[in-house]
Amino acid sequence: MSRPVTIVMYHYVRDLERSRFPAIKGLSVERFRRQLDYIQARHTPISLADLLQALESEGRDLPPNPILLTFDDGYSDHFANVFPLLDSRGIPGCFFPPAQAVLEHKVLDVNKIHFVLAAVPDAAGLLDQVFSSLAEFRSEYALKTREAYLQSLTGEHRYDTPEVTLLKRLLQRELPEPVRTEIVRRLFTKYVTADEAAFACELYMSVDQIACLRRHGMHIGSHGYTHAWLNRISPEAQAIEIDRSLDFLRMLGIGTSEWSVCYPYGGFNESLLQILRTRRCRLGFTADARIADLHVNDPLTLPRLDTNDLPS
Ligand SMILES: [Zn+2]
Repeated sequence: MSRPVTIVMYHYVRDLERSRFPAIKGLSVERFRRQLDYIQARHTPISLADLLQALESEGRDLPPNPILLTFDDGYSDHFANVFPLLDSRGIPGCFFPPAQAVLEHKVLDVNKIHFVLAAVPDAAGLLDQVFSSLAEFRSEYALKTREAYLQSLTGEHRYDTPEVTLLKRLLQRELPEPVRTEIVRRLFTKYVTADEAAFACELYMSVDQIACLRRHGMHIGSHGYTHAWLNRISPEAQAIEIDRSLDFLRMLGIGTSEWSVCYPYGGFNESLLQILRTRRCRLGFTADARIADLHVNDPLTLPRLDTNDLPS
């Protein structure tokens, strides 16, 4: 017998047409509203506490077609646009803010890439710029040739064009970290803004806003400290990421007896799971696009659908 739970992940939820970056890949507030209508007609929204109770007691049934809504990256969108709608409908939500972005007003590299792509329609031109700036790093970091990157990075992506897919893979993952950080910094400064801190304050929720969500019954979980790929760093670095994110939750007045983690980019591995188990992490959310089954899935590796997988 299966015990399915639909877990959905959201990122940007904003009034795209009337925003400064209408090309950002996000969900409009209107579509979010329609998706909530759909969800309420066909599912029963549950809270993280409901999910934990169901995991603990085999006999305790979840309501019909249970669904859990999760919101990644701590965007101001979630406070301004998501929270009022959830609150008015009595729907619980889980929010995963990256601690450093909130505390130190740094824009995550992944977000810098989104806004560069939204500001510059010509992805092929951006790709040319990236490849030409690689020249100055090539010998120090033993970088591959343009042709070798092109060959190793082909493959389909669900939502992006081939140029955008290649850009994202190079700048989010493939290039050595110091190289991609520097290239992303230059592109962001050139095409978006030189004032990263001001941009971060607009983009992410403040500590007070996150604490407010919590007071209104929303769950706040860990999304790491720097939003690193947790499956690509040493166990020591993994422990530091997790512990600093837990310090952040405690600073917000959030108890860590029932805490959860949402893996940045969906990345986890066995050493990370070990660290989470020793710290009594209760639930872990991946980016594996399937419906969760409480009979089958490890509570620390629960799959989630993307909002695009649901009608709206
Ligand atoms: Zn994230």
